[in-house]
Amino acid sequence: MQLKKYSFGIGDRFARQGEAQLKAFVEAEKKGLDITPVWNKSGREHSTVNSEPHETRIAADNAVKNLNWSKPWFVDADHVNMSNVAGFIHSSDFFTIDVADYIDKKASKKELDEFVDRNSVFAGEFSITGIDKPFNLTRDMLVSAGEKFLFAIKEAARIYRYIEKKKGTLNFITEISMDEVTRSQSPLELFLILSAIAAENIPAQTIAPKFSGRFNKGVDYQGDIKQFAIEFEQDLLVIDMAVKEFGLPENLKLSVHSGSDKFSIYPVIGDLIRKYDKGIHIKTAGTTWLEEMTGLAMAGGDALALAVKIYSQALARFDELCSPYAAVIDIDKNRLPSDAEVSEWDGRRFADALRHNPGNPHYNPHMRQLVHVAYKIAAEQGEAYTGMLEKHREIIGSQVTENIYDRHFKNIFNLNNQG
Ligand SMILES: [Zn+2]
Repeated sequence: MQLKKYSFGIGDRFARQGEAQLKAFVEAEKKGLDITPVWNKSGREHSTVNSEPHETRIAADNAVKNLNWSKPWFVDADHVNMSNVAGFIHSSDFFTIDVADYIDKKASKKELDEFVDRNSVFAGEFSITGIDKPFNLTRDMLVSAGEKFLFAIKEAARIYRYIEKKKGTLNFITEISMDEVTRSQSPLELFLILSAIAAENIPAQTIAPKFSGRFNKGVDYQGDIKQFAIEFEQDLLVIDMAVKEFGLPENLKLSVHSGSDKFSIYPVIGDLIRKYDKGIHIKTAGTTWLEEMTGLAMAGGDALALAVKIYSQALARFDELCSPYAAVIDIDKNRLPSDAEVSEWDGRRFADALRHNPGNPHYNPHMRQLVHVAYKIAAEQGEAYTGMLEKHREIIGSQVTENIYDRHFKNIFNLNNQG
């Protein structure tokens, strides 16, 4: 199984928006752009909304069938490790093996020595094709990269072998992620990580490093865009070199996690992948659920009342909802509208606050982030929530499609000039 050049990960917390999501890919296809949809859902999301991995598969299969989608699509077991991968084996054909928790744990002395010996050919002046200035790669840097990453890659290998044994080689896509950490990985570290991945014979087709800057959920990138551009370009070239040097899969590409809403870096990503003719996987952060809230608000009446109710409960349960996501959100509590204020709003005003349209003076990224992590409250409403999604499926669906196509595809893949 091969992942094509462009792929885009979509989350669907309540498994109701598969068709509306897929419509964006159909639109892109009409413009001659081939983007593979990948439905992703992590164990954390499943347990928060009390769903099972097979439900994601059923929803994806139905969307594909109903829209006659004949190109590839995948169901991604997102951020799995040895403790939860078993539950995803049957329903997934894409596995994001997450080893962030294993970074900085030490491999054995023997394993570390092997790693350093194998990579000592790169020590000294180290040039990456396409980057003018050579790096100075010291033996100490090799040792330190081994101490940081080798154990994690060995763990990735253990998880990979488990999946391989259950599903058969070549029957699934492998991604390796280490993005949920505070310290970013440099391009040089990425090269050494790929060396270790190749030594373990893991046929990774995508890799999600931690880039510098903040990738908060559902809002724009925060960080130094110029620095990001340098790093991203070097990462692309490092991957090229690692593919040739270590025999990794030819289609190996970068995966950008929490990749939705990163409007300020899309032109950078887009220009660079086109400059080098490279692929990309963008994994979005389950923001489709925010489009459901936007659509409910716009529907007005009972639907708006439900959206307001969910928001006011989210305010009351701020700490509980935010603590699991502390590393990936930045909310200024003082800038959250009170529930008294929100209950005065009409549907359009609510939607304007929530929708990620930076040009709208009512857009409120603090409210947007809080609602983003409040899907647990919607899940607790059960039928009252999902029934409302069914009732207003048209207006919600158009929000979902527009978000993916207009705000994401157009900006990343440069469709702006083509309407
Ligand atoms: Zn991630």
